[in-house]
Amino acid sequence: SKNHPFYRLTFFAQAEHQRMLKEKDMENRMEEALTNREFVVYFQPKIELKSNRYVGGEALVRWLNPQKGLIPPDEFIPFFEENGFIIKLDLYVFECVCQHIRIWLDAKLTPAPISVNLSRAHLNNPHFLDNYILIQQKYNVPPHLIEIEITESLLSENLETVIWAIDKIHNAGFTCSLDDFGSGYSSLNMLSSINVDVIKLDRAFFKSLDMENDRERAIIETIIDMTKRLKMRTVSEGVESGLQLEFLKTIDCDMVQGYVVSKPVPVNEFEKMIFKERG
Ligand code: C2E
Ligand code: CA
Ligand code: CA
Ligand code: CA
Repeated sequence: SKNHPFYRLTFFAQAEHQRMLKEKDMENRMEEALTNREFVVYFQPKIELKSNRYVGGEALVRWLNPQKGLIPPDEFIPFFEENGFIIKLDLYVFECVCQHIRIWLDAKLTPAPISVNLSRAHLNNPHFLDNYILIQQKYNVPPHLIEIEITESLLSENLETVIWAIDKIHNAGFTCSLDDFGSGYSSLNMLSSINVDVIKLDRAFFKSLDMENDRERAIIETIIDMTKRLKMRTVSEGVESGLQLEFLKTIDCDMVQGYVVSKPVPVNEFEKMIFKERG
């Protein structure tokens, strides 16, 4: 039966074996995939609730594998974080973003700021930002159009390094946001030493679509209130329903990023959305 210890053992051994094969395959193919431009940057728009306008977007990578089709980041980012390839991939994503912003600027469009995810692996290198600055300068992109997202889970590991990294990010003129806030790693008092511009509320807060639970609402409202007092802007992530949107409006959340606005889309669709209303 399936509960027999031997069955369970072979099941796990097989699953483990499958995972190893998959990782070996990724390891063998990653460099070539980068050269062949198999990694594609999608964009998810952010809207400002007050005005209902597009005010930015997040760059999210996908792997367009010739055999396997579009692979979501959760299937390769964790492995690339382990083997270090994420550093190259993040820089590649950043270069794609700068290229697009340059195209928009040249077309006399007013681009909204774009955020990119910065993996923890970068922070082991004291010069981690140098390559970002070189790329930003190569495309002559005004740094305020770039936002760098660091994840909350970093705070529990090395607060000093994160504080130092945020300083570097600010000195380069980039905006800095704290991603996945409230996902469980940081304590609130860490926020007093974390000088970010934007807090992104983790999408776990928006699991119930109807927003009928008083306690859940109270927690979201309190976080938004607190971040405002700390002079930070707030983005609610993973918002899927109109009821959530209405609630967030009433409690003065600044921005929303979620399927209720749009899923992450290829660049040409993103351009249509954000430049439509500006002509
Ligand atoms: P993240 O940085 O928290 O990005 C937000 C994720 O939430 C995206 O998943 C987005 O598609 C998803 N999302 C947004 N709104 C909704 C919604 O309303 N409902 C649901 N169900 N999901 C929503 P995605 O694109 O699959 O990315 C997953 C994670 O992979 C990202 O989470 C980020 O941690 C990582 N990632 C993606 N691109 C990059 C990258 O270029 N570099 C690094 N280091 N990590 C990346
Ligand atoms: Ca993010
Ligand atoms: Ca994340
Ligand atoms: Ca997030």
